Amino acid sequence: MKNEKDREKFSSYIKERLETGRMPEAIEIANATGIELSKEELKNYIYKYLEKGWMSKAIKGSESAGIELPNDVLILYVNKYLDKGQIYSAIEASKITGMPLPKDKIVMTGRGHLLKGKLNQGLEAYSLAKEAPPEEELITCGKICFKEGQFHAGMEAYKLANKTPPEEELITCGNMCFNAGRTTPGLEAYKLANKTPDKEMLRACAEKCLIAKNHDEARKAIVAAQKIEDTAHAKPIEIREISLNELQSSNKLEDSWKGFGPRACLECENEKGFNERYFILSRCPETREEEAWLDKMMKKQYGVEHYCVVVDVFGDYRGLIVSALCGKCGSQNVQFDS
Ligand SMILES: [Zn+2]
Repeated sequence: MKNEKDREKFSSYIKERLETGRMPEAIEIANATGIELSKEELKNYIYKYLEKGWMSKAIKGSESAGIELPNDVLILYVNKYLDKGQIYSAIEASKITGMPLPKDKIVMTGRGHLLKGKLNQGLEAYSLAKEAPPEEELITCGKICFKEGQFHAGMEAYKLANKTPPEEELITCGNMCFNAGRTTPGLEAYKLANKTPDKEMLRACAEKCLIAKNHDEARKAIVAAQKIEDTAHAKPIEIREISLNELQSSNKLEDSWKGFGPRACLECENEKGFNERYFILSRCPETREEEAWLDKMMKKQYGVEHYCVVVDVFGDYRGLIVSALCGKCGSQNVQFDS
C-alpha cells in the first residue's frame, strides 16, 4: 500500500461492494490490496444478505469467504420470506434449497398482496400455487389500484375478475393520473368511463408535465384540452324554448341578468304588459353566418322576428334569447334594458 489515501480509496471500494451484495469482488480487491477483512465482518454481511432476501448473493459470498452456510439455515429463510410476503425471494430460495414452498402459505401471501393493491406480486404467488385468485380479491385489488392512479393494474385486475370497472372508479383513477402529471392513462380512464375531463384539470396536468420535463405528455394534455374547447364550439347551435318558471328554477342565472327585461314598445311606446318568450341557445352565434342562420330559424320555427341574445347568463357557453310581444299593439319591436 503506497499511502493512506490509496488505502482509504480501496477500503471504500470494498465497502461499496459488500453493501451491494458483491462479496466475491470485495474479497478479490481486499486480497489484491492487502486490506484485511475479518471473518466476523464477512459473516455479518452474509446474514444481512439473507435478511434482505438475497439468498444467491449470500451463498456466493459464503463460498468465496470460506464460511459455511448450512442448508437448515437457508430453509429457515425460505419460511421467513414467505411470512414477510417476499414472494420473489421465496421462489429463488426454494429453487436453491430444493425445499418446495407450502401451497397454503403461498396463497396467503398472494391474498395479502392483492388486498394491498399489489397486483403483480399477488398474481405471481397465485400462479406459483397453481390457483386462480378469487374474484373478490381481484376486485378489491383493482379498486385500490384505481384509487392510487394505477390505471393499467386496475384494468388488469378487473379484466381477470371478468368485471367491468365502475365509471366512478375510472374517473377517480383518471383524476389521480392527471394530478400526477400522467396524461395518457388519465385520458384512457376517462375514455373508458365515457366522460370528458375538465379542461382546466388537463391544463393543470400539462403544467405538471412541463415541470417534470415530460414534454410529450404535456403536449398531449394541451391538445386534449384544446379539443374539448373546440368540440364545444363546433357543435351546431340548438334552440330550445323555455318558460320563465323553468328558466328561473332550473338554471343558475348570473346576478347581472336579474334586472333585464322589456322596457318599451318601439311602435306604440307602450311600457307595460308585454308577453315575453325565452329560448336557451346551446351556444351563442359566433359568426355573421350563424347570426343570419339564427334570425332565420327564430322566424321560421317560432315566428319571432325581434329578439335579444344575452350572453354570460349561465356562466357557460350557453346564451339566452329574450323576445317580447307588445300587449297593446302586438308588435315584437320592443326595446330591452338591463
Ligand atoms: Zn306596441
